[in-house]
Amino acid sequence: MATKTVAKKSATAKKAASASTKSTANGHSKNSTQPLPFFKSVAQNFDKAARALNMPRGLAEQIKACNAVYYFNFPVRIKGEIQVIEAWRCEHSHHKLPTKGGIRYSEMVDQDEVMALAALMTYKCAIVHVPFGGAKGGIKINPRDYTEEELERITRRYTAELIHKNFIGPAVDVPAPDYGTGEREMAWIADTYLSFHGTHDINALGCVTGKPIAQGGVRGRREATGRGVMFGLRQAVSDKNDMKRLKLTTGLEGKTVIVQGFGNVGYYAAKFLQEQGAVIVAVIEWDGAVYNPKGIDVEELNTYRNQTKSVRNFPKAKTILNGREVLEYECDILLPAALESQITSENAPRIKAKIIAEGANGPVTADAEEILLKKGILIIPDMYLNAGGVTVSYFEWLKNISHVRFGRMEKRFEESTQRRMLDAVESLVGRSFSAHERKLLIRGAGEEDLVNSGLEDTMINAYEEIKKYAADHPQINDLRTAAFASAIDKVSTTYKQLGLFP
Ligand code: NAD
Repeated sequence: MATKTVAKKSATAKKAASASTKSTANGHSKNSTQPLPFFKSVAQNFDKAARALNMPRGLAEQIKACNAVYYFNFPVRIKGEIQVIEAWRCEHSHHKLPTKGGIRYSEMVDQDEVMALAALMTYKCAIVHVPFGGAKGGIKINPRDYTEEELERITRRYTAELIHKNFIGPAVDVPAPDYGTGEREMAWIADTYLSFHGTHDINALGCVTGKPIAQGGVRGRREATGRGVMFGLRQAVSDKNDMKRLKLTTGLEGKTVIVQGFGNVGYYAAKFLQEQGAVIVAVIEWDGAVYNPKGIDVEELNTYRNQTKSVRNFPKAKTILNGREVLEYECDILLPAALESQITSENAPRIKAKIIAEGANGPVTADAEEILLKKGILIIPDMYLNAGGVTVSYFEWLKNISHVRFGRMEKRFEESTQRRMLDAVESLVGRSFSAHERKLLIRGAGEEDLVNSGLEDTMINAYEEIKKYAADHPQINDLRTAAFASAIDKVSTTYKQLGLFP
């Protein structure tokens, strides 16, 4: 296990870790209806699972703690003036290396948030059998306030800081996109890293995932989190007993869905759910929501939003200016895919959805969850449901360190084998396949087919593993606790095998 010297620890770090009554961007005082700080909320869920597992206190504390937090400020010239920008990178657990987790650009980001998100990444990786520890980064900016050139300068400078302190590298810590970032930022990060290490580290391209295809990305990564949300939900609604309890039919066909956040996760999840027959009745964005009980065409709304920069006044739906209230509308599935702490003890009593599918990280606070579970709502937890992103990031990292596109070696060989098989079948039965049938049956798997198939398999198996974990532990009666417990169990096995805990 590697250890890391933290270069500069912020004064707010200790506060964030121990705060119970302080106000933060995401959490407020303990004895009110305001949510707990995010890291504390994650820790509360962890404790609930650790209690169910009867885990030794020292081991539980080691797994729960954040190993290293790098807080720094860096100057960037913006519109002729020097602006000092705050940033973080947190590595939650080094039980496996590299660590892995997104980088978000948001005015709301703070140390509490990156610590909480890094912790969730550790458990998420364990759930989907991705051999990484958890990490997360953040830059406290609103990307809408900067030009593309300014964002590039900020991203490159942030990367240089991470390089200097050994908080990035294909064997060390591998960032990815998150809220407010995408392929463009990942390409800048890769290029900056390569300019420092490209000549002596053959695996340098594996320093970041979520890159454009031409810069070493993998096909299917852009859609992966949303596609994984669809696979996870499809698996959840196929459970006859759960659906009977919720008075719902099995399958996605006809299920009404409200989506909060129409970005990478929300847009792709809505698109794939609609393709499976679900009806998207509302989309909530930061500046308002659109609602149509008969359904909203996801592609039409996306085109409209790209043209007008807002979902407001979409002609085929009603606009609701206070988007937040739409979280409380009737629907089968509520899919928060924007930010954390959206469903709190304040609005939880009014939520009418039967299933809450956590596309975002931490959208339901720990105290809200108690209320929702009492109402019988099925919560599919973030650390499982949005793990499609890290799963396909893992595939991208594997591609980068193996230096070959998935399917490159076997596609044509597979096709020749299939062709010979069809020829043999045709001569045996005395009938020929149509050209269309031949094309379908012969086709070998390309990179995107393999990535999507690996993702589907991962999401199905992980859901069944969580369900089995819950069934084997009668003291656990919700999916989040089962997911946490299953993840903690795996991480603790690694620690025990390392010889740290008897
Ligand atoms: P994104 O920046 O692509 O999209 C976020 C969307 O939410 C934007 O359209 C934004 O306008 C909207 N939004 C912001 N505030 C809102 C509000 N108050 N109400 C409604 N909408 C609001 O970000 P993303 O990558 O889709 O990430 C969304 C969430 O999913 C985050 O919690 C992130 O941590 C999580 N996540 C992302 C990935 C990934 O691969 N991108 C993977 C796992 C988890």
